[in-house]
Amino acid sequence: MPVPLLDLRAQHATIRDEVVASIMKVVDDQAFILGKPVADLECHIAGLSKTKYAVGCANGTDALLIAYRAVGAGRGSEIVTSPFTFFATAGAIHNVGATAVFVDIDPKTFNINPAAVGAAITSKTKAVVPVDLFGQVAAIEEVAKVAKGIAVIEDAAQSIGARRKIDGEWRMAGETATIGTFSFFPSKNLGGYGDGGAVVTQDEGLFNELKRLRTHGSVTTYFHEVVGYNSRLDALQAAALLAKLPHLAAWSAKRRANAAFYNQAFADVAEVVTPYTEPVSESIFNQYTIRVSRRDDLKAHLASKGIGHSVYYPLPLHLQPCFAYLGYKEGQCPEAERASKEVLSLPIYPELTQAQLDEVVAAVRGFFGK
Ligand SMILES: *Cc1c(COP(=O)(O)O)cnc(C)c1O
Repeated sequence: MPVPLLDLRAQHATIRDEVVASIMKVVDDQAFILGKPVADLECHIAGLSKTKYAVGCANGTDALLIAYRAVGAGRGSEIVTSPFTFFATAGAIHNVGATAVFVDIDPKTFNINPAAVGAAITSKTKAVVPVDLFGQVAAIEEVAKVAKGIAVIEDAAQSIGARRKIDGEWRMAGETATIGTFSFFPSKNLGGYGDGGAVVTQDEGLFNELKRLRTHGSVTTYFHEVVGYNSRLDALQAAALLAKLPHLAAWSAKRRANAAFYNQAFADVAEVVTPYTEPVSESIFNQYTIRVSRRDDLKAHLASKGIGHSVYYPLPLHLQPCFAYLGYKEGQCPEAERASKEVLSLPIYPELTQAQLDEVVAAVRGFFGK
């Protein structure tokens, strides 16, 4: 029995009637641009992330783009981020005209190393961008400390609803950053029925700027103080997301339970390094990512057994051909480079059955002769 890496149809089957009813209401109202579904979703996203304001936008990449713009990044400025992330984090830096400055990661969490951030800050730095990779919030309070007042944009595309204990208090993904960004790409924990994204902030001035950037830089229709984007969250997507939101906490809990099961099942396999969750962290496990030195052989073995898997990410961003102009060389972010050769993500989605979980475990253990 093959086990896919992700099975969106399995989830859809459990919520079909709710989602279809919610989407059909928008269809029947013929009100596709912003309106009540988007406003309602923004209200819920702000509530979930314990922020004052949320702005829906077209996707998680645009969320980063308008966040960078809102804090004033552009030509001549630098933005410090991790090279071990999805491309969009840095692609959006390039697209606002700023220079990406890549610093290495912590090998245990795969998240940005705060000390390295501190060393990379210059008079040109406009923002630092910790990424909450695989569902675990980065050491955001340590990044903020070394950023010394520079904007912290938290790329929380993979971590909606995740939390981190800071000074003894649970803080949500996006809550403590200058701006937090989310993606509703279908494979994220809260995935839409197409593209979607959002930004959150505690700052009213930034909220107004983000809203303005989302709609062509215009507050009063047909009057434009700045050039913005056409990047609204589609009302049909907001409707689908509103139907899915009540299930998010249970889905993420099931992912954590699946992760705990795998951790236990691989505990006696010395070759498998299971994901490290910091004691101060509650991950939402957007990915369950192990490290193995014979990664490509394990990959081939899982493929032969029909077990879904993927490498997030095979080439760190500082070594991508499109960023050759930045002048990075191999060896400059050694932990990110090593991670890219050793990581392998396994199926973790909430609808996995026990039989499927057992199948994944048997295939991985079998490869190591266990
Ligand atoms: C998915 C993702 C994005 C981009 O989101 P889209 O909605 O696909 O544009 C940005 N950053 C990270 C870390 C992501 O995982």
